[in-house]
Amino acid sequence: MTEDLFLEDSYLREFEARIVELSGRELILDRTAFYPGGGGQPPDKGTLGIGPVRASVVDARREGREVVHVLDNPIPDTVRELKGELDWERRYGHMRHHTALHVLSGVIWRNFGAKVTGGQMRSDRARMDFSFPEEWTTDVVGEIERLTNEALAEERPVKVYELPREEALENPDLIRTQVNLVPERVRMIRIVEIEGLDTQADGGTHVANTSEVGEIEITSHKSKGRQNKRIEFVLR
Ligand SMILES: [Zn+2]
Repeated sequence: MTEDLFLEDSYLREFEARIVELSGRELILDRTAFYPGGGGQPPDKGTLGIGPVRASVVDARREGREVVHVLDNPIPDTVRELKGELDWERRYGHMRHHTALHVLSGVIWRNFGAKVTGGQMRSDRARMDFSFPEEWTTDVVGEIERLTNEALAEERPVKVYELPREEALENPDLIRTQVNLVPERVRMIRIVEIEGLDTQADGGTHVANTSEVGEIEITSHKSKGRQNKRIEFVLR
C-alpha cells in the first residue's frame, strides 16, 4: 500500500521513499508525491534517483491502493531507497487549472443552474463540458468568463477535508456533483471545497487559494448537441 503524500500536501515536490516492488521499468514505493492521474487530472512526471542512479518518471497509475511509477529506463535492483522530484511546473499548472475548473463549475451552477458533465486539464489549458439549458451565445460565454474571474479574484480559500460517506450523501452540493458515484467501499470521502462556491468529492491536487489561479481566458466554446456545451480556456 502506497502512502499518498500528494493527498496530504499538494505542494510537496520532493520526497524520499523506499522501494516496495521493482519490475522492469515499473516501480512501487512505500510513499509518493506522484499523482497517479484521475478525475480529469493527468499523472505527474519527474525523476527518481539516488547517487549516480537516475531515471525519469514518464507515467504513473493507480493499481488498487498502490501507485505504479513507469520509468524511462530500469534502475539496478540493488537500490533500496530513492529521492523523488516532481516536474513542478507541469504539476503546478495542473493544480491551477484544476482549481479553475471547480470555480467555473461553481459559477455555472450558481448563476445558470447548469451541471458539469466532464472536464480535462493540462498544464497549460483545460476544458469543461456541461449540460447548459440556456441559449449558447458569445454574450453568455463572456458572462461566464467575467463571473469566473470575479470569483477567482475574491481570494477564496480552497479547503480539503474528509467526510463520512453518510454525511456526504446528505449534502446537496455533493449530491449535485454526484458523490453517489464514489465506490460504496469508500467510507471516508475526500472533499475539495472552494469556500462559498463549490464543494465536490475529489481526489486531485489543488492550489490553496483561488488567488493563485489568476484569470481564465475562454479560448473556444462549442455546442456538442442541444444540451451539451464545451468551454476551453487558458490561464493568464
Ligand atoms: Zn476535480
